[in-house]
Amino acid sequence: MTVPTIALPDGTAMPVLGVGTWGYAEQPTRRRDEIDSLRAALDAGLTMIDTAEMYADGGAEELVGEALAARRDEAFLVDKVLPSDASRHGTVEACDRALRRLRTDRIDLYLLHWRGRYPLAETVEAFGELRDAGKIRAWGVSNLDVDDLAELDEVPSGDQVATDQILYNLVRRGPEWDLLPWAERRGLPLMAYSPVEQGRLLDEPALCEVADGHDATPAQIAIAWVLDHPGVSAIPKTATPARIAENRAALDVALTDDDRAALDAAFPPPVRKRRLEIL
Ligand code: NDP
Repeated sequence: MTVPTIALPDGTAMPVLGVGTWGYAEQPTRRRDEIDSLRAALDAGLTMIDTAEMYADGGAEELVGEALAARRDEAFLVDKVLPSDASRHGTVEACDRALRRLRTDRIDLYLLHWRGRYPLAETVEAFGELRDAGKIRAWGVSNLDVDDLAELDEVPSGDQVATDQILYNLVRRGPEWDLLPWAERRGLPLMAYSPVEQGRLLDEPALCEVADGHDATPAQIAIAWVLDHPGVSAIPKTATPARIAENRAALDVALTDDDRAALDAAFPPPVRKRRLEIL
């Protein structure tokens, strides 16, 4: 199937599945595979690419820029500003640096990586300037729990937040207690990072059993489970070109009620509030 999209508050279509790049550009011997993975992703219609100035100290942005050089228009680029850069002027400067490394004139979705010492109002004001200048199309946040999001809503233009990128997968179900319902009521799309728990959950017997029933891989089921939640997108990272097609095919998995029940039994939903976890 074609990659479905979620409408951001301004109407922009954001793909529900993309590729993460944390860990890219750290080992020269993997560079070829990393670039090939991103190009394979575009070939497969997996156009959302998530990166951050933090990853390899700008190295991941540079690698993304190299991989997409002639194909920028095909991609939906997500990037993140570090909290230590997220002051009124620092955010604008960080974005300009990122644009140079990414070899582009715009970022589709620019996120505050996590909340730091600068008031949210400052960062939001800077995001507004960047959007007016056409340097970013939309902005959002990452690692913000419900109380922070509620505070953001009160900041001038804070209600224009396009997404909250959070840790969410079968073994990190805490957000289902309040964050997912809050975001759904509020119409705020969420983006799940580490959807396969960095590979650690792929040997879980219950996951493997559901996968066998679909002739699918555990990674495909773990990703399909995240995407089974309305308004939630996912950005599994891989630097293995063959896994791009594998992860994309998670979109073809239709979980049944029996699958959901089996996964609930093995990976129980939360029964109380837990602070949003961070990796
Ligand atoms: P993921 O859950 O995406 O797991 C990535 C790991 O799983 C890699 O080791 C990868 O190996 C492996 N993997 C991927 N697909 C498969 C597969 N089909 N079969 C077997 N193994 C597989 O973890 P990440 O923490 O990387 O999260 C994804 C992205 O989310 C990050 O890359 C980053 O862009 C973003 N992120 C954002 C954070 C934030 O604070 N906002 C925090 C953490 C992540 P290999 O590469 O060798 O194929």
